[in-house]
Amino acid sequence: VQDIPERAHLYNGQTPQGFTMEIAIAAHAKASVDGIDNATDDVQLALRIGHRAVIVDGGPHNIKITHAPDLEIARLLLERKLGRSKVVRLTRPFSFDEREVLCTPDITRIAVRPLLGSICAADLRYYAGKRPADALRRKLPMALLHEGVGEVVFSPLPELRPGTRVVIVPNIKRCADPTCRACASEHIGENYCPSNAFLSSGEDGLMQSLLELDARNVVPVPDDVATDVAVMTEVASIGVGAIRRLEDLAGTACVVGAGPVGYATQVVAAELLGHEPVLVKHGDPMPAADIYFEAAGGVGAEAAIRDIISAARPGATIVLLGVSENEIPLNTRLVLEKGLRLVGCSRSAPIDHRVTLELMAHPHVAAKIKKLVISQRFQLSRVREAFDFALARSAWGKVLIDLTA
Ligand SMILES: [Zn+2]
Ligand SMILES: [Zn+2]
Repeated sequence: VQDIPERAHLYNGQTPQGFTMEIAIAAHAKASVDGIDNATDDVQLALRIGHRAVIVDGGPHNIKITHAPDLEIARLLLERKLGRSKVVRLTRPFSFDEREVLCTPDITRIAVRPLLGSICAADLRYYAGKRPADALRRKLPMALLHEGVGEVVFSPLPELRPGTRVVIVPNIKRCADPTCRACASEHIGENYCPSNAFLSSGEDGLMQSLLELDARNVVPVPDDVATDVAVMTEVASIGVGAIRRLEDLAGTACVVGAGPVGYATQVVAAELLGHEPVLVKHGDPMPAADIYFEAAGGVGAEAAIRDIISAARPGATIVLLGVSENEIPLNTRLVLEKGLRLVGCSRSAPIDHRVTLELMAHPHVAAKIKKLVISQRFQLSRVREAFDFALARSAWGKVLIDLTA
């Protein structure tokens, strides 16, 4: 020991060190020309060519991983931040349970904190026990909600910084078969592969404080799209996905069913088809058309599909978007006579979410989509109120839950 320096004048330097690109390139180029191969860090090279370095404050958790114990410290820090999630699960109809679950963070994936979610008819069917008993037995307990917006908490990708608002794509890829026809084909779509999963359908949905997702399952929300508009992305993306899968966009189109999916499909179709399709409500006469989006579903599906088949023009395409628990008779004679095409489509891919958000960045589209949601907000801590309200409600409008409260 030759000397003990005055501590007040010492700094603990952290990496990374920041430079403008020109300075970094010039410093390294000069070092290479001069044959320097023993520099400790980049700042040293910048100082060599006459630049001045300034000190900025860092954070104590920005540790450098050099030795094996550093990795252990990093893992502990990450686990403290990402290692536990508060999950609210439906255990049986009308009953929720909240608990903290421990998880092992995977730093190759994106950690998202759900912010705002919307109740779907599918969630309500679980809540009210309207699914077959064996489905309830198999799928519960489960966190509900698959339509929502979150905020990135951790991400290994520079383009997805913490704090970025993202729409969560609820199709979870599980299929590991590289020859799978459903996953490989854009037209069948990986969401129809039976090996894959779907949030709040056998897989914990958004009613949790932290969710780990693959990069493909998060789509950044453009700055000018409000969170209570972006929360409708999944709902509106179903129509976008249906249109993407159509081979022929010519002719007149018609949306049947004035629920949220029908209304949102009319909004996105007006943009993507270049003309606004007629929205056919329950009891309206069915117009002749070349493309039908059937979004009636439920008990209305049978009458809607019957009327569509009789009104359809020859060669028309009927896209079935509405979910019905019942089997429905089909007039196959008319389907054959007119050469109709029936396409089933209820789930959308990440690309459809992206396109939907681009459409929502147009103020006139955002204004129409915003009409889908009611202004009242419910809190996750009082989640039963939200579901009871949605269940009792006969009026139009999606019920939103603040997932942070
Ligand atoms: Zn839904
Ligand atoms: Zn597959």
